[in-house]
Amino acid sequence: MDQNFICPKCKGYLNVEESIVLSTGTRTGVKGLIHFSPEIGNYTIKKNANFLIKGGEKYNFFCPLCQTKLASEIHDNLSHIIMIDKDKNEYQILFSKIAGEKSTYKIVGESFEIFGDQQSNYVDFINLSLGK
Ligand SMILES: [Zn+2]
Repeated sequence: MDQNFICPKCKGYLNVEESIVLSTGTRTGVKGLIHFSPEIGNYTIKKNANFLIKGGEKYNFFCPLCQTKLASEIHDNLSHIIMIDKDKNEYQILFSKIAGEKSTYKIVGESFEIFGDQQSNYVDFINLSLGK
């Protein structure tokens, strides 16, 4: 893999081979780990079969290393992690906490790329945060 994903707080590595590993929990207090694809815009996830995700519900994601909530100040529906590419460039990665909502943003400086079928949902908030 050419890029790494790190926690914004503890800077620990969140990716292992072909997965980004984050922890989450349901409203009823059941906790689980979710494996995300490191390929941005690929929404395939892996999880324990007993850990049930309900489409349309909001899931907070946490760093499995330091337990920090991976929140974004831009919108409460977005989670935030950092990507570092092979040239050591740093990107802010924002993705939706809503199960099934495909909205992902890769921000560097004042520009950003958008991914997913529902990518337009938070563009206005990102533009605002970038002072546009
Ligand atoms: Zn952390």
